[in-house]
Amino acid sequence: MASDDAVRATNDDAANCKRYAVEKKYWSDPYIAMLTPRSSSKHAPEISRGYYARVTAMRSMLQKFIKITGGECQIVNLGAGFDTNYWLLKDIELSAKAFVEVDFPTVTAKKVFHIKKHASLLEKIAGEDGDIQLSKSEIHATDYHLVECNLRNLNELKAKLHDCHIELALPTLFIAECVLVYIDVSSVNEILKWIAESFTTALFINYEQVNMTDRFGQVMIENLKSRDCYLSGVDACASLDSQKERFTSQGWEGADGMDMAMVYNCLPQADVHRIEKIEFMDEKELLEQLLKHYCFVWGWKDPNNIGLAALDL
Ligand code: SAM
Repeated sequence: MASDDAVRATNDDAANCKRYAVEKKYWSDPYIAMLTPRSSSKHAPEISRGYYARVTAMRSMLQKFIKITGGECQIVNLGAGFDTNYWLLKDIELSAKAFVEVDFPTVTAKKVFHIKKHASLLEKIAGEDGDIQLSKSEIHATDYHLVECNLRNLNELKAKLHDCHIELALPTLFIAECVLVYIDVSSVNEILKWIAESFTTALFINYEQVNMTDRFGQVMIENLKSRDCYLSGVDACASLDSQKERFTSQGWEGADGMDMAMVYNCLPQADVHRIEKIEFMDEKELLEQLLKHYCFVWGWKDPNNIGLAALDL
């Protein structure tokens, strides 16, 4: 298992890769630069294209979930790092009743620091009523909560979500973007089982590594260690089917998913063509191989048929 310091540092790397790709105009995000400094190193185009697919797919699912529920929903981002979706959604007038971001205290403290420094981040959280409580590593406002928690401790997670007034009866989307791979399988299973047992209606989107066992996979792990995820090795070898089974075996009604090569082909192709012109890439196969080693998998529980089973990219 990678040390917690190394795990926390993966957030700096993810934020850095996102800022780099945003500056190259792969996608637009006015907020990421407020949270992370400019990268001094040049990133390979396949890395930026991989991030483009990950960010675009996540944004699309978030927007669909909020629209399906008419905003009568909650979003919980586990291992949120410097994610900016709360602010990006506000800009397109989509919001949830509660948007909760959870991470280790060192990461949330840095996020609090940056949010306090930038009025455009702070003002959106405070809203018109200005109702906001800030501490060194946590924020609580009307529809935004940033909380410190070690996700390996389910009781701590339950208590933190309780502090955020999360309602078990409201449709709730959980996100884990490149996070579960750092947490032991039994702790992840406990979280998945608890959500399936406790929430009436829930969707869980997990983005992470898949199929890392072949020889090429081993090479990818070495290449990616320094730039994306410092792999703990836990479940990085899972196949797409076993990634789906993680949900169904813990009481979820159904699960679906794709590797990121499939996701890349499902994204709006006019925009894909636009981003492919940003930087020349002579080894297309490298991108394909990279994308095949990541997946986007979602599980749902939808007894009232609000449409989660039919949700797709
Ligand atoms: N989800 C963000 C993104 O995609 O930009 C950050 C991804 S970063 C690769 C992994 C994040 O998971 C880090 O911020 C790390 O601190 C967090 N994390 C990993 N294990 C955790 C745990 N046991 N408890 C809380 N946070 C954890």
